Amino acid sequence: MKDARILIVDDDAALLEALPEALRLRMDGASIDTSETAKEALERIQETDYDAIVTDIKMPGMDGLALLQEIQTLRPGTPTLLITGHGEHDFAVQALRGGAYDFVQKPIDPDYFVASLERAVHVRRLDRQVEKQQLALELHARVLEHVDDGVFLVDAEGLIQHWNPAAEAITGIAAEDALERRADQVLPGWSALGPTVPVAPMPGPGSTEARTLPFELDGLELWISISGVEFEDGVVYAFRNLTEERALEELKGEFVATVSHELRTPLAAIYGSAQTLLRQDLELSEENTQRLLEVIASESERLTRIASDILLASNLDAGRLLLEREAVDLGPLVREVFEEMRLNFANRGNISFELEVPDALPPLEGDGDRLRQVLINLLDNAVKYSPDGGRVELRVEPHERGVRLVVRDEGLGISHADQQRIFGKFYRVDPQQSGGVGGSGLGLYISRELVRRMAGRISVTSREGEGSTFAIELPRTVARSRDEAVPAAQTA
Ligand code: ADP
Repeated sequence: MKDARILIVDDDAALLEALPEALRLRMDGASIDTSETAKEALERIQETDYDAIVTDIKMPGMDGLALLQEIQTLRPGTPTLLITGHGEHDFAVQALRGGAYDFVQKPIDPDYFVASLERAVHVRRLDRQVEKQQLALELHARVLEHVDDGVFLVDAEGLIQHWNPAAEAITGIAAEDALERRADQVLPGWSALGPTVPVAPMPGPGSTEARTLPFELDGLELWISISGVEFEDGVVYAFRNLTEERALEELKGEFVATVSHELRTPLAAIYGSAQTLLRQDLELSEENTQRLLEVIASESERLTRIASDILLASNLDAGRLLLEREAVDLGPLVREVFEEMRLNFANRGNISFELEVPDALPPLEGDGDRLRQVLINLLDNAVKYSPDGGRVELRVEPHERGVRLVVRDEGLGISHADQQRIFGKFYRVDPQQSGGVGGSGLGLYISRELVRRMAGRISVTSREGEGSTFAIELPRTVARSRDEAVPAAQTA
């Protein structure tokens, strides 16, 4: 019994000398302490967690039975053997009832004594191991309660045996609805998808790469990245929610599709016009030649606009865009933009344009060109998303902190849900709902970012089918003209 720690308590000095000697001989490597009184023994027990304690039952002062009781409170796990006098059966029974591990009768039979003591030490050690494992398990369980990854255990029978809070949070399925149930009943689609989840044979650095799979929960698509580790009793799965990342990926994909579509349309027009002009066999009238050249010019301009929007948005994101800080004479700027737009859209289904600018406006400080760009974008949208015969209004009015510029249309309008999103990067309302009008979904994102960098704010009010009103509020003096001073907005 290597390193076994044993305490012997007896008031009989001769026995206290003989017993340890005998034990040391038979229990190799055991370390044995002795005490002559129960009181002294208790002090030792307080200090040392013995593997086993042997005590005489009859001792002056506190006897063995009383000591046993004290041990039970102090070290409930320590096996205690009592030494009883010959024929003291009553005592022996009392001792066992009191929780003693065993009793040994005098004269002590060394073989029996050592065997019993060895068993006691062995039991104590097993107990300690179990305690340790239990603590480790509790610790693991506590860790699992706090990790961000969803974790669940499927046992050999296919029943879920663990379902941590993150699993609840990600899936919206409560532990009580998951535990002791089959995984394919809890996770819709598991019977098909479960077998495709990579499962590593044992935990360790070589564990497998996770796989991203879609699960449909409550009608919503949930993309999770999941992998498993096989244990004797089943498989532990860990997963995280990738739905947002996935949505972003899709958005990027959509953007690429949108942009390439947007590029293809003007390119086709340019290509077609140029090919026609190049044809030797066609006698083109001066008028037709002029028209084709105009198509080339205007479509090239559209291409340039898309390219510069993409560049501008990426510069805004990277904080690379510096805005001017200059005096802006708002009256002339607004009138100029308005006239320009009216001329541009002269051929667009008799849309009527209205302008309302007060004669006196407070002086503004900001970036005139960028403000012009924002206004053009809002007016452009107002026309784009208006039916023929619609009315587009540009109004400037003083505002408590500075000025408010309002662009109003009587067009398609924007649903409440979309009003929250249209300022997001690349966001476009479903073309089916927005009259199939083309665009990159960058205009409002850029507008909002520019206005923010002029310390202003942009907002929308709209009703579907009735029209939209975009309002820009700008302070008189723009304190911040560098975009670094404004934290970038969180947008998709
Ligand atoms: P784009 O017009 O290039 O698609 P924007 O960022 O300017 O991009 O606009 C985002 C979306 O907001 C548009 O796709 C459109 O659906 C919607 N939208 C913007 N302005 C209006 C408006 N005045 N009326 C109706 N819908 C609008």
